[in-house]
Amino acid sequence: MLDDARPPDNWTWGVGDDSKPPDTESTDAGPPTNVPPPSVILSTFPELFGSGNLLFKPIASQNASVKQKVLSDPKAAQYLQGYILLGSTAARVIAGRKHRWHRDKILAKSMSLSAAGSKGMKLAGVDKTQAAREDRETADVVAAWREHVGPLRSAVAAANTACGANMKVPELSDKMQAQAAKMVPTARAACLLCGLKREERIAKVDFDVEDSFGEWWVEHWGHRACKNFWLEHEQRLRQR
Ligand SMILES: [Zn+2]
Repeated sequence: MLDDARPPDNWTWGVGDDSKPPDTESTDAGPPTNVPPPSVILSTFPELFGSGNLLFKPIASQNASVKQKVLSDPKAAQYLQGYILLGSTAARVIAGRKHRWHRDKILAKSMSLSAAGSKGMKLAGVDKTQAAREDRETADVVAAWREHVGPLRSAVAAANTACGANMKVPELSDKMQAQAAKMVPTARAACLLCGLKREERIAKVDFDVEDSFGEWWVEHWGHRACKNFWLEHEQRLRQR
């Protein structure tokens, strides 16, 4: 499974470039304790979704057989899978944004301390400002996703046919909510990035979740896709 969503290096799928983000357990310095608030994480997605144009734009003008040929390359399917994971991660941050303020004690504390310290704002004011910012960023993320979802769907359909894959494209909205699934593994803490719990699922996003061999959840961290997103974009997130 692909664990990042970088655009292809060039139109011939960058032969010889197999560089990947640092692999999980081995190079890990332990879970982060200061993941930025949801609004900061959300603000990164529109630009990342935009990278899809590197694939979508050139093939849009091609005829069906050329399209099919390009998308039958396993690297194209991998790229699409990564793009789908990026969309799912955005969906989780959106659906989990309110939860994170309750479940991530360090986040809640740091935010109220810094706001109270610098401006003497009351907590309710901090919450309101944050919530408004999150709603704005969410709207931007959803709009950016909708801008690319058409070309994504047609590329995924062609790639599924060409490779016999079964990729599904998530649907993003600003009203997404997570529901706890029954009879699935649970974990003590919520995901560090999105704030959702291990057993929580989002309709029209989390299709056919397999949670048996670590493909869904990393102990003491959270969703594998969220962790991979963090490892790849930590620098960018910290600069905001
Ligand atoms: Zn997560």
